Amino acid sequence: MDFCIHSRTVEIVMTTIKDFDCCRVVCNSPGAVHIIPDLLSVKTRELFLKNRAAELDREMGLIRTQEETGRHVRMLTHEIRSTLDRHTILKTTLIELGRTLALEECALWMPARNGLELQLSYTLRHQNPVGCTVPIHLPVISQVFSSHHAMKISPNSPVARPRPLSKKFMPGEVVAVRVPLLHLSNFQKNDWPELSTKYALMVLMLPSDSARQWHVHELELVEVVADQVAVALSHAAILEESMRARDQLMEQNVALDLARREAETAVHARNDFLAVMNHEMRTPMHAIIALSSLLQETELTREQRLMVEAILKSSNLLATLINDVLDLSRLEDGSFELDLGTFNLLMVFKEVVNLIKPIASFKKLMVSLTLAPDLPQYVVGDEKLLMQIILNVVSNAVKFSKEGSISIIACIAKPESLRDVGGLDFFPVPSANHFYLRVQVKDSGQGISPADIPNLFNKFAQNHALGGKHSGGEGLGLAISKRFINLMEGNIWIESEGLAKGCTAIFIVKLRIADNLSYSEHRLLPTAQANHCQANFLGLKVLVMDDNGISRMVTRGILIHMGCDVTVASSGKECLQIVSQEHKVVFIDVSTPGMNGYEVAIRIHEKFASLYKRPLLVALTGSSDKVTRENCLRVAVDGVLLKPFSLDKMKSVLSELLEKRVPREANP
Ligand code: ADP
Repeated sequence: MDFCIHSRTVEIVMTTIKDFDCCRVVCNSPGAVHIIPDLLSVKTRELFLKNRAAELDREMGLIRTQEETGRHVRMLTHEIRSTLDRHTILKTTLIELGRTLALEECALWMPARNGLELQLSYTLRHQNPVGCTVPIHLPVISQVFSSHHAMKISPNSPVARPRPLSKKFMPGEVVAVRVPLLHLSNFQKNDWPELSTKYALMVLMLPSDSARQWHVHELELVEVVADQVAVALSHAAILEESMRARDQLMEQNVALDLARREAETAVHARNDFLAVMNHEMRTPMHAIIALSSLLQETELTREQRLMVEAILKSSNLLATLINDVLDLSRLEDGSFELDLGTFNLLMVFKEVVNLIKPIASFKKLMVSLTLAPDLPQYVVGDEKLLMQIILNVVSNAVKFSKEGSISIIACIAKPESLRDVGGLDFFPVPSANHFYLRVQVKDSGQGISPADIPNLFNKFAQNHALGGKHSGGEGLGLAISKRFINLMEGNIWIESEGLAKGCTAIFIVKLRIADNLSYSEHRLLPTAQANHCQANFLGLKVLVMDDNGISRMVTRGILIHMGCDVTVASSGKECLQIVSQEHKVVFIDVSTPGMNGYEVAIRIHEKFASLYKRPLLVALTGSSDKVTRENCLRVAVDGVLLKPFSLDKMKSVLSELLEKRVPREANP
């Protein structure tokens, strides 16, 4: 607009100058000779200015066209990019191009599944142009596909005649451009599967009744739009792909979540089952073993004694088997964890010897125990597990020896000796406050052939040298012991010079030396020095609370055997009603239903204001896990007795408790 005004101003100026010059000619004709050069120079200036004005107009037109093209491209790009659905992208493109360029028709030909044809997929005027195809190898298509420019094609070309249009329809000038299909071949599975052709074809037709021709800037616009469509389509493809992947992932997550929850339920069910079985199976076993050992102490005929010993032997075997199976299943599902606590190491060995002695004496085997003087008395580790390992190994020695002796030697493994022990799976890592306990159990029994030794730690291992004869065990003990020992960062191995030459089992486990024991820890720990032989239980008034009739009978039987005056209660409520200052000790089974043992302990604490009038409280429990231990500490019981317990264990725990109570009573 400015430039039009500008050229008009130039013209007015020029005309005024001309008129002015004519006047001068008329007025000064005698000086015309002098005027001619001026006139010529004005004429030249006029011509120059005219040319300049025309040039400026042309440039302005070009700039305007470029601006318009840019505006259209921006507008189209915005429309195209405003969606990431490829069908919408293509339709929007055609509509916007049709509007911007005032097109008669615009068509998009996509490669067909077979890769041999192009099929009409979108048109400006017809929503669903199905079934219209052209062979892909038409020269006109190849020509367009081989150039990145939009090019004019014949209006008679098949791609310029989409079928729904009338046969008589003859468009005006037609251009075609390729649209690169950037990522389509990667994701087209349904609509455009595995395209060998990498281009679609866009055909744009001007109205037939106009003499309009394609301008260069319009062709440029078409090219830019084709590229924009290609980019938008590839983005849409990536988005579709990632959406599909996200959906798949979500489906997988749901499935995984379901599987995880099912697995958790199964693990819970299994753990619950194990917990129930643990309690339900151990309780009767405890009763059988404890009552048989009590029976052994009574007057029996020779025949009766043999029968009781057989019961004891079989029930010990059965108890070991139950323990093994329960432990193995927990080891295999990975739910087995070390239950660390402070315990009296020396007592563990003495307890094992006490447990094994009845069977050993029945077989007339000598059992000797040697504890190195430098062994720490209190250590931190899994007491129950260590006891089970020692019991397994010592039981084997007893089981596979008919006569002779069994020696148990425990000492601290010297650092230099650790280098030589066992195999690839053992890497000793010495650290401050820790030590490696070395236990050696040597017997003079049937021995093992060297060929069998490597297999002894496999599940259900049997000594083949027995010629298929059942060895008396299930072949689980060593396999489980090895896994326990590995958990305790140690190793186990077996040495034997051959059949009938005896056998030596050696194992090493890592333990921590206990530092300052807290008062409560001390209170729950029995000491090795306790001299229970001196304790006098005669007439000691005790109360036993246990809901299980057999367990109650067992505990009562042991206490009566020790000379105690025993009262029993089968529930927490009954126990609280009976308990009085006269009772020196109350044994409380912690897993009693209803009011459980912990609650009973709290109530007894409340009932007796003075510490010295209150009876001593001893928790009876089948499990020594962390939760039980913490609960016992919380309710401040004076001692804990782990089932199964022997007569000796009961004596030692009770005498120690009574000894601790004496000074307090003497000095209230
Ligand atoms: P089992 O329950 O059979 O004793 P173990 O895993 O404890 O299972 O032992 C596996 C096998 O190793 C036994 O069946 C036995 O053949 C052999 N064995 C273990 N300890 C000894 C030993 N002290 N003397 C002879 N053979 C032994």
